[in-house]
Amino acid sequence: MTAARSLTTVAELVDAGLVSEAGRAGATAVADRYAVAITPALVPLIDRNDPHDPIARQFVPDAAELVTLPEERADPIGDLAHSPVEGIVHRYPDRVLLKAVHVCPVYCRFCFRREMVGPEGLGTLSAKALDAAIAYVAERPEIWEVILTGGDPLVLSPRRLQAILERLAAIAHVKIVRFHTRVPVVDPARVDAALIAALKASGKTTYVALHANHPREFTAEASAAIGRIVDAGLVMISQTVLLKGVNDDAAVLADLMRTFVENRIKPYYLHHPDLAPGTAHFRLTLAEGRALVEGLRGRVSGLCQPAYILDIPGGHGKVRADSTAVEEAGDGCFRVRDFRGKTHAYPPGEEQA
Ligand code: SF4
Repeated sequence: MTAARSLTTVAELVDAGLVSEAGRAGATAVADRYAVAITPALVPLIDRNDPHDPIARQFVPDAAELVTLPEERADPIGDLAHSPVEGIVHRYPDRVLLKAVHVCPVYCRFCFRREMVGPEGLGTLSAKALDAAIAYVAERPEIWEVILTGGDPLVLSPRRLQAILERLAAIAHVKIVRFHTRVPVVDPARVDAALIAALKASGKTTYVALHANHPREFTAEASAAIGRIVDAGLVMISQTVLLKGVNDDAAVLADLMRTFVENRIKPYYLHHPDLAPGTAHFRLTLAEGRALVEGLRGRVSGLCQPAYILDIPGGHGKVRADSTAVEEAGDGCFRVRDFRGKTHAYPPGEEQA
């Protein structure tokens, strides 16, 4: 059965057979705390007879989310510590995140920004805040790349998106625009001519990073939407979160990376799951993640190799999780060197919480 609109309440999930009566109370407690949305395109992909369905696991609320561990934090990658003006995150010298909207077409149960996104999240930038964010970029010639993320920027209407992109077009030192989105797989019909025209409106070299975590997300409709983007001259790269019970399997990971490449998307990031609240049931250890990534090397084409990335908790930036910058320190702990040469414990100790 294909739903006509997104499922956003536990009652709708129960009606659709995605949450059992026994699971209703737990799912309700989760939905009271974190946003829920499953798009019509995803609903038919879920096998209700499989209690371990990898699509359901990503989107259907689970009582395990009610358990928050001491090392988990509301802002696991430290966006707020690097936000000089509302809507901008400036963590690295040559690039900024521009978070114009904190709404998504789906709400991932493992989301690293789960305390910021959703109907009750940080919302959409006001016209005044957007002016200040654009001015921040315009005044800093070192900003070479602007990454539109959120939330999912592709939920904005093409008209609003185009208006933002046209303002970036006027900033000569910005050479690259990048979008981070799940829309091509979770709501492929949204990728129409108007949206593609908006994505191209800056006139800059434009990348679209698609977030997908399991090969089954690539339906014929999703592949067609991706094809429309690539045919329009935009470069596509991937990002995937390594998730227990979804893709922590060498064959599934290999299949996923090959599926990206077959769809003309270059695998880019494989993220180690962040310390977001209530997500312990998704997290592998770094040692487990390294073994899985090692399993890809040599066995699948070089085109299919993503960079395995740890976002150092606290906003210290990304590091290759399988590089010498991440060293075992015993008892499942690691020493992680950030891009400035400073060392941090992972998992972080209480002093860094
Ligand atoms: S699409 Fe991205 S920002 Fe939105 S819920 Fe999923 S992980 Fe979070």
